[in-house]
Amino acid sequence: MNSTLDLAEPAARLADIKPSPIRAIFDRASELERAGERVIHLEIGRPDFDTPEVAKQRAAQAIADGKVHYGPNAGQPELRAAISRYLDRRHNLTYSPDDEVLVTIGANEAVFLAIMAFCGPGDEVVIPVPAWSAYVACVRLAGATPVILPLSADDGYQVNPDALAAVMTERTRMVVLCTPHNPTGAVTDPKRLAGVADVVRDTRALVLSDEIYAELVYGGQRHISPASVADLRHRTLVVGGFAKAYAMDGWRLGWLAGPKELVRPALRIRQFTTICPTTFAQLGGAAALDEAGAEREAMRQEFERRRNVALEVLAQQDVLSPGEPGGAFYLYLSYPERLGPSDELAWRLLEEQHVAVVPGTAFDSDGGKHALRISYACGIDDLREGLNRLVATVQSN
Ligand code: PMP
Repeated sequence: MNSTLDLAEPAARLADIKPSPIRAIFDRASELERAGERVIHLEIGRPDFDTPEVAKQRAAQAIADGKVHYGPNAGQPELRAAISRYLDRRHNLTYSPDDEVLVTIGANEAVFLAIMAFCGPGDEVVIPVPAWSAYVACVRLAGATPVILPLSADDGYQVNPDALAAVMTERTRMVVLCTPHNPTGAVTDPKRLAGVADVVRDTRALVLSDEIYAELVYGGQRHISPASVADLRHRTLVVGGFAKAYAMDGWRLGWLAGPKELVRPALRIRQFTTICPTTFAQLGGAAALDEAGAEREAMRQEFERRRNVALEVLAQQDVLSPGEPGGAFYLYLSYPERLGPSDELAWRLLEEQHVAVVPGTAFDSDGGKHALRISYACGIDDLREGLNRLVATVQSN
């Protein structure tokens, strides 16, 4: 056999798919913990709460009832109906459970399917950055081209319609929006959404609207879905899920909702990839949407309390700027260049202070060279302690 043959050479489409820096930090933190150190986890975007009891019970009952087989490709009818009711009740969106809602394996699969279904070689996808890194990765896997639209702290990390118009071309096939936003916590101003609608009008750009944090909005604001804005619904695919608002990240459930012409192509991929999400998990998901509103609201209030505590701690210093975090459970802390690149700072914090945070460069943004993301989806004592150590480190430099 020819020894120069490289059997492990991955497909070309993987060339730009890098391991997640968040994972690298998490793995090193776990290693320190195994060695007996106490690490404060401000890196993970995962609620520290337990899943609502009603969802667990319904899923357990579903197993007992033998709901352990394949289900419809689009998801269990009970859950599609629950999602449809939920979107109507909470976000003023009307989608038919029959053909406008696809249950997905987490919001992540919804993003992947939407991009794979509509974007390919020659297509451009506009991604405002900093951004959750899966958008760029999925666009690359699809063979399409990510087009970066920088968001700025001075503009509250809002999408600027003029800047969007400047990066759009006749090849723009999709524009990604995420509100509330990971990693900045920004909640998109409805006026900006109207501006986006004006820019995409008369183009063939779809909008991929990631609303996984829709329930985590603070300060008396409320979530406004881009799809509920006049002129956007017919070109928008809404992504949502259970991981953040219902503390059900390990259940791997989410959804893709939109006009049936847009949902159907995603379903065609599903038929030949994942078949359907776990049947009994979906029944638990339906129970969460229908019956766990009080638990969801209690968790939201606790996140809001933590956000306020974090902002109070940060108000006592002026090196780290948190911007205007109105939602999600993240603070994106920009800092002066003299503190050095975020990769180095994040690793130093982990090794020397045992505080795990995410370097801004994990979010596909040059601006992230001088920013760190912290998550407040952890206990309030850890949050205070972690922030105090962070502040002490940056102040001593
Ligand atoms: N969208 C955003 C903006 C996220 O931050 C995440 C998870 N970190 C997801 C989607 C994926 O969520 P899920 O666990 O439901 O796949």
